[in-house]
Amino acid sequence: CIASGGAAKGQRVLIIGATGFIGQFIAEASLSGGRPTYLLVRSSSSNPKTMKVLQDKGAMIIHGVMKDEELMEKILKENDIDIVISAVGGQNILDQLNLVRAIKSVGTIKRFLPSEFGHDVDRADPVEPGLTMYNEKRKVRRLIEELGIPYTYICCNSIASWPYYDNTHPSEVLPPLDEFQIYGDGTVKAYFVAGSDIGKFTIKAVDDIRTLNKQLHFRPTCNYLNINELASLWEKKIGRSLPRVTVSEDDLLAAAAANIIPQSIVASFTHDIFIRGCQVNFSIDGPNEVEVCDLYPDESFKTVEDCFEDYMIRVDDKSKGVANGIVAQNHVVDALPITAMCA
Ligand code: NDP
Repeated sequence: CIASGGAAKGQRVLIIGATGFIGQFIAEASLSGGRPTYLLVRSSSSNPKTMKVLQDKGAMIIHGVMKDEELMEKILKENDIDIVISAVGGQNILDQLNLVRAIKSVGTIKRFLPSEFGHDVDRADPVEPGLTMYNEKRKVRRLIEELGIPYTYICCNSIASWPYYDNTHPSEVLPPLDEFQIYGDGTVKAYFVAGSDIGKFTIKAVDDIRTLNKQLHFRPTCNYLNINELASLWEKKIGRSLPRVTVSEDDLLAAAAANIIPQSIVASFTHDIFIRGCQVNFSIDGPNEVEVCDLYPDESFKTVEDCFEDYMIRVDDKSKGVANGIVAQNHVVDALPITAMCA
């Protein structure tokens, strides 16, 4: 694999959005691989604690905003950046247009990974308001392609966790302890990927020639599950059965149509995944797409079962549904900052 070459390790990576949910995993993987890692952080960052943790691990902090094209040009040049990874949240997708123009002006960036980290946005077709976000991600793709910037689009599917339809960062939340909400008949499958694996394979791909100008799809067969199977896995961990309540297609469409941002965006993606099967209703055989297990057959994925084991370690009072550092679903909307959208 070309990505593991010594020279490639010296390539300088700039990560935008490293203090965010997905960005943290990418920054951790970049740092643990020994790459010179720069983080663009807003002075108003909502997460200075994470920034400090990453800095202590060797990240170099640059203050600024991605929207400032002139500043971005300066930062990219002055720090000899080779690779740019953006993991900005759903509400800042179009800010990347200025970054793309700055990358074009600098002319030396070897790879740009825009903020994708979900589905193939050219293929998936969620109902609104998810569609608006996909249209923005599509707009960024088109500018990258029009300007001839070398890219990789990371299509990592769902983060490994219970896929709540009204929660933006489900992996920070315990799977249910009272009842399961099953979407439709619960038989539509999806791919679940641990955050650490999203980081690990994103960083492997950044200088792999085989991912140049390609969509990189994540389809780990060990984590190809429907929501009934997910429920059974969790029941095995907690050692008891929970009631199952059906959330119908109409329920999900109504939650999407309520247009409460960002929850309705998540509802529209949930509909697309678990009713329409948007992760699994196509094969990966186009000239511009590759699959991560094909590229790195010797690398393993963390299983959903192991991810559930991590939740179990943090559960200290199952009957109340309260855990160390994370909360059960009913507490979540208050407890988490409402910022980003999944997929
Ligand atoms: P978050 O909202 O958690 O984090 C966003 C990050 O971007 C923060 O670090 C924020 O910094 C930074 N940021 C935002 N705007 C700017 C800007 N203009 N200049 C510099 N930094 C900026 O995002 P997520 O991790 O939730 O989302 C990232 C991507 O991952 C999205 O494309 C989303 O759709 C996708 N996703 C996929 C999931 C899946 O299950 N597959 C789940 C969740 C997200 P600051 O500290 O200043 O706020």
